Amino acid sequence: MRILVIEDDPDLSRQLETALGGAGYTVEAAGDGEEGHFLGDTGDYDAVVLDLGLPRLDGLTVLRRWRAAGRAMPVLILTARDTWSEKVEGIDSGADDYLTKPFHMEELLARVRALIRRASGHASPLLTCADLTLDTRSGRVLRGGRPVELTAHELKVLTYLMHHAGGVVTRTELTEHIYHQDFDRDSNTIEVFVARLRRKLGPGRIRTHRGRGYQLDCGAAG
Ligand code: CA
Repeated sequence: MRILVIEDDPDLSRQLETALGGAGYTVEAAGDGEEGHFLGDTGDYDAVVLDLGLPRLDGLTVLRRWRAAGRAMPVLILTARDTWSEKVEGIDSGADDYLTKPFHMEELLARVRALIRRASGHASPLLTCADLTLDTRSGRVLRGGRPVELTAHELKVLTYLMHHAGGVVTRTELTEHIYHQDFDRDSNTIEVFVARLRRKLGPGRIRTHRGRGYQLDCGAAG
């Protein structure tokens, strides 16, 4: 899951990157509205944390431009002042949630988790697929009630597949949502992670559709 953070306060931006990175997200950061707008306009993100007071282009304008262009990713806005009118304006401009500064990082993480799972149609923080359960709060995976030990990258791949269970996810899409932008993307690596996941999750769970991608099959016995 890839998150875009647009925040001009370098300390807060660093804290956000650390917290979100620690929670298993791939984080890209922009320090002004123009760069942030460009990244959100051209990249594929699972959620955006958007500060409203930004140099070069303010957060509301960034958000309005994305929505006008049909960019639908979930956006959580950060407002500096606790004024109701700014929140209303933000939500009316296309924001999905807001937090007033200062905020507790745990609350931000919870709101981001909720935005991401709701965007993919999940109401509960526990994602299930046949005998597999993923707790999006802790990153714990159970298979038939027993814990499955996964590396950080295996968990990232499985998390993306669990959010999109049943659908076919292309390798490019997986690469885009899992690796950092300047990471040397080797598509074989995705294949390696999928192969390891298959060994840990049992046969028939992750299907390969030749030339199209992978599908987490929640109907098959596994
Ligand atoms: Ca600011």
